[in-house]
Amino acid sequence: MALRIAQVFRSFVQLTLAGTIGAGLIAGDVAAQQKQPSPGSAKAIFGSVELPSQGPAEPYGFYAKGCMTGAVALPTDGPTWQAMRLSRNRRWGNPAMIALLEQLSRDAAKYDGWPGLLVGDIAQPRGGPMFNGHASHQIGLDADVWLTPMPSRHLTAEQRETLPFTTMLQKGAFLTINPNVWSESRARLLMRAASYPQVERIFVNPAIKKKMCDTWTGDRTNLGKLRPEYGHDSHFHIRIKCPPGAAGCKPQAPVVAGDGCDKSLAWWFTKEPWAAPKPPKPGTKPVKPREVMVSDLPKACAAILAAPSVASVRAATYGGASAAESLAVAPAAEPAATSGEALPALGPVPDDKPADQ
Ligand SMILES: [Zn+2]
Repeated sequence: MALRIAQVFRSFVQLTLAGTIGAGLIAGDVAAQQKQPSPGSAKAIFGSVELPSQGPAEPYGFYAKGCMTGAVALPTDGPTWQAMRLSRNRRWGNPAMIALLEQLSRDAAKYDGWPGLLVGDIAQPRGGPMFNGHASHQIGLDADVWLTPMPSRHLTAEQRETLPFTTMLQKGAFLTINPNVWSESRARLLMRAASYPQVERIFVNPAIKKKMCDTWTGDRTNLGKLRPEYGHDSHFHIRIKCPPGAAGCKPQAPVVAGDGCDKSLAWWFTKEPWAAPKPPKPGTKPVKPREVMVSDLPKACAAILAAPSVASVRAATYGGASAAESLAVAPAAEPAATSGEALPALGPVPDDKPADQ
């Protein structure tokens, strides 16, 4: 299969195409970052909520259309993780998701030569649509993890805002892994994440999936959980199943059997997924997608927005107040320059479109 992918790949290698893709994704990220939702839209309303609702944790709706109650926060720091981009207030999730992230961080450090996780966006305090970055992450069962290992130093809040993403892709080449950045420890981390029964999907860039298909020599039972998707070249996205008994949670169809190293992967190496959308026929009005309103979400979501808040972030931190405080992140006063790294003002926002998968 690898051979066939390689053939398809060769026939479509075009540096100009690669350049267009790279520029397109970055431009899209910046646009998404800057576009403000209109007041009254679900994005604006869920995005301004600061605390989760009280009560038991429950997801409502689907990964890309829903909300949640009773979210808990991943502590900003643990022995084997640091939460990133704290200003976004998106380290909230279903307790099952937070527990999984902590477990993955411990297991990866113990068994996979991966010192710890840098955890990106999970969800907003009550879930719901976000005004930038994601189609999904709405019910507390999705989380982004960086493909950069946790540094041994404790990052300041400011460094967590500005530490740049590192792409696994080779610059100027079409969907090719950069061998100077990729490592076997990353492969082990991905397969560790896929090994947990509650994990249903892991979204990675098609080039990463191909690399795994071509090089993973261990047990391939869970390789099919790795799903090729746009973006996801500097982070991967973990999606867990609806927790048992979560009646309001709409499950996603299970992934098809097999390792996924087949024509569904080869398709990503054709022109089709990267082609510009066809211009509308002359005389037809372009259809603007309507903004999602709270009334478009499951009925429960309006009540969840109105429900009383937990007392504080501390009170709703997974593991209790001691977890919230024992290793709490330092204030942002320390200048980023002390790390000796060039830190840009704005890193690319992960662009993921996993809703159809
Ligand atoms: Zn994601």
